[in-house]
Parts: sequence; structure tokens; C-alpha cells
Amino acid sequence: MQVRPAVAAAFESLIADIYVRHDGLAGRARELIRQATADGDQRHADLGRLVLAELDNRGGRVADGVRQARELLTSSEDRVVLAHAHAVVAGGLWRAGDNAEAVRHAYPANRMLEDGDPLTLRVDHAIILALQVNDQRIGGISHGEFEAAQQLADACGRPALMLANLNNWAWCSYTHGDLDSASALVGRMRAHSEQAGEPLNASCADTVARILLETGRPREATLVIEEAIARAAPTDSDAIPAALITLADIQRRDGNVGTAMQTLARCREIAERDRLPDVDALALRMLAGCHAELGDFQAAYQEMVDFHEAWTVRRSEQSEVMARVAHAQYAVDEAHRNTELFREMAERDALTGLWNRRRSDAQLAAVLAAGRPAGVALLDLDHFKLINDTWTHAVGDVVLCRVADILRSLGGHAGRHGGEEFILVLDAALPDAAATCEAARAAVAAYDWEAVAPGLRVTTSIGLTSLRPDDDVHSVVRRADEHLYAAKRAGRDRVVSGP
Ligand code: GH3
Ligand code: MG
Ligand code: MG
Repeated sequence: MQVRPAVAAAFESLIADIYVRHDGLAGRARELIRQATADGDQRHADLGRLVLAELDNRGGRVADGVRQARELLTSSEDRVVLAHAHAVVAGGLWRAGDNAEAVRHAYPANRMLEDGDPLTLRVDHAIILALQVNDQRIGGISHGEFEAAQQLADACGRPALMLANLNNWAWCSYTHGDLDSASALVGRMRAHSEQAGEPLNASCADTVARILLETGRPREATLVIEEAIARAAPTDSDAIPAALITLADIQRRDGNVGTAMQTLARCREIAERDRLPDVDALALRMLAGCHAELGDFQAAYQEMVDFHEAWTVRRSEQSEVMARVAHAQYAVDEAHRNTELFREMAERDALTGLWNRRRSDAQLAAVLAAGRPAGVALLDLDHFKLINDTWTHAVGDVVLCRVADILRSLGGHAGRHGGEEFILVLDAALPDAAATCEAARAAVAAYDWEAVAPGLRVTTSIGLTSLRPDDDVHSVVRRADEHLYAAKRAGRDRVVSGP
């Protein structure tokens, strides 16, 4: 595999830029896939596909994103691709509300990466793990994972990644009721943003504004969030509407209930356009509060009813997403099973279900390579043409199937060599192999053929030989065929064997 430095660098930039803005990223990911494929660089081609899956996850198409990542989890054997597929699955499941399953993917995403792997990717996975374990944790926040991710992000030097981790860290501190830590982290975010000239994206601005608001700085909060809404680059599809809800909350608390209601209406328009039932439900709940504040209790009640309805829609959509994710996984497993099935079917004879000639040749080659003692027998039904002519071709087919059943029961490799000829590859030296062949001959002759067609008799002639060290597939089959011919000449219904 040849990895061009330009391709590796393009991938690392994509991973960081997902945190900044999404426009143009899909095109860059496709270009990465194209170049890597042309180089024969499967790793970066697959990593490019995972960037597309991640864009689906963040664009509200979680079922698609998770499906693509899971396909690679099943099909790839590349450690870095597998690690990143775990990370993308974790992110998607988290967005679909399945935290327990998400954290289970976040761990291998981290563990599978090594020190020499691209730093951007290691930061990305550390950020995901820190968020997942803290979203899972019941009780206090654990700062350890966030600290570890922040150290890596600082070492990496990409402002977008530093801000992304600080953002998650601050948000988790805030939701865990640790306002002091949250405030300190907001300070770091704003300092970083200014220093690096990297404006806060809508999601970061939302966190900063929330925490400023809760710590009694509503003016600053308003400025931060209005600026982000006006200028923020397009990222996750729910980032702007979530920021609008925070803005409405600030306005309402400031006594501007009418303005807050206008903001919420804007939020609901976006939520409807982008199908974001989560945010819509939150907007409705706040609208109900606004109406109540204005003394319009009937409208407030109606909004509460609508909120509950929207919340129910949200929950059912969430479980629908999970059902689609599960279904997609089923389809992947099924396709995998089908591949196995087709592989096996390609090696089976359609009429009798025995191994076909191709597989028997491969089996012989394998036994030859292993150098074990083995008996190779060719069986040919006697006067089979006469059976076809006398009892019909259909009866002839049944005969072939019954003989196949008998041969299968012997325990060795049994194949249909063509027409009414079969091959046995027996894991045994000549005397034992000869006994097995004699048993096969006797079983065919003694079979209750009367039950298949009145008056039907079937016998078989068998030529058997054993493997020699200097044999190849053709020489050993030719020798067995010579013994078979001898058996026919000697009167049929018999075994002729020789080394
Ligand atoms: P021998 O004892 O010398 O082997 O005589 P034979 O009649 O068995 O040999 P021959 O090679 O003349 O005829 C083989 C016949 O097997 C001819 C062919 O139509 C028939 N046959 C081959 N494949 C099939 C099959 O799939 N189904 C049926 N019913 N007949 C088949
Ligand atoms: Mg024949
Ligand atoms: Mg024959």
C-alpha cells in the first residue's frame, strides 16, 4: 500500500474540519476516495467513506451513517479503518439516543489506535470517548477523559479540535450542575477562539451563551449567540435551531416575551424544514411558557398539548431510527451470510449437492500439499445409459442423487466428477480406502432400487489408487481412471485398486 503524504494530510484536515463547517466537505471526501483508490491506498479510501458516513450522522441521516460505518466494521481488516468505523458508529448511535451502545463503540475506537497513528484521528476519538463516558455517567462529571482529550488536542494544535473538546467539557459540566468548572471552561473557549481567530460555531456559542446566562451575564450571552447565528458556518443540522432556543430563553428572561416568541417561531421553521422533532418539541414547550407569562393560559395549554404530541413524535422517530439502524445491520449480516452461501453454492453440484469438480480438484491439491496418505477413487455407474433409456432420464437423476447420498455417508470428500462419475478422496492408506470403496460398491448394489422403479438394478465400478509423493492432481486421477477402466473390462460391479 502506498500512502501519499498529500492524501494523508487531506484526510486529517477533513477530520478537523467536520468540527468547523460542513459545506464542501462531501466533495473533498469523494476526491480523497478517488485519489486513494487510484493509489491503491485502501485505508484512505475507506477513511474517506467514513467521513461521508459521519456527515450523514451529523446531517440528520443517522440510519445511513451508521449503516455505512457498520459495513466497514464487517468488511475491513485494517486496524485504523476499524477504529474509525467504531468512532462513527458511536457518534451516530449517540445522536439516535442510544448512549449505552454508543459508549461500547467509543472504547474500541480509542483502544485500537496507536501512538504513531494520525494525531487528528486520535484527538477525534479521545473527544468522542470523553463525551460518551460523561453522557453515560450517572452522578458527577469525570474530568479525566476530557483532560486527556484536551492534552492531545493541544499537542495537535488544531483550534477546531481544542474548541470542540472544551465545548463538550463545558456543556457536560453545566448539565452536571458544576457551574464553576463550566464558567472556567467558557473562559478558555473564548480565549482560544480569539487567539486562534477561529469564531465559535453555533454549537460552541450555544454552550457559551447558556453558561453566561446562568452566571448572570445575559447581555454577553445575547451578543455571543446573535453573532454565531448571523455568521456561523453550516455544521450539525440541529446546531442553529438549538442556539435559537437559547436566544429565546435569554430574551424571555429579559422580559422580551414577544421577541422570544418570534425567535421560537424562527426555530420551529428550521426544525420543520430540516425535520428536527427534538428541537421542535423544546421550542413548543418554551412557547407554552411564554403564553402563560403573557396571561394567555388557553394558548399556553394548547402549546403544552402540542409539545406532548411533538415529544411523542420525537420518541417514535427515535425508535424508528433505531429500528432502521438495526435493520441495516441485519442486511449487512445477511449479505455476509449470502456471500458465504454463494461461495459454497459455487462449489456444489446442483443436482446431487456433492462437491463439484472444481472443489474436488482443490481438495486433491490440498491433500497433495499436506503430503498425508490418501486414497483417491473414481466411481462410474454401470450401463447408466441403459437406465436412462429404460426408465427415463428423471429416474436416472434420482439414481444419481441416491448414489450421492450413499457416498456422502462414507465420511470422506465426495464429489460429482461429471455425468455419472463420482470421486472420493479418503483420508486413509490403500487397504482402508479399499475397504471403504468395497462398502460403497456393496451399498449401491444392495440399495432398494425397486422402490425407485420396478425392476431397476444399479451397480457401480470403482478404480482406486493412493497418492504418491510425486503426484499432481492429473496424474493421480489418471491412475484411478485406469483402474476404473480395468474394473469395467473385468465385468463391472467391482473395485480395482493399485498404488
Ligand atoms: P458404462 O457401464 O460403460 O459406464 O456405461 P454407461 O452407459 O454408464 O456409460 P456412457 O458413458 O455410455 O453413458 C453415460 C450416460 O450418463 C450418458 C448420459 O446421458 C448419462 N448422464 C450423464 N449425466 C446425466 C445426468 O445428469 N442425468 C441423467 N439422468 N443422465 C446423465
Ligand atoms: Mg461414464
Ligand atoms: Mg457409466
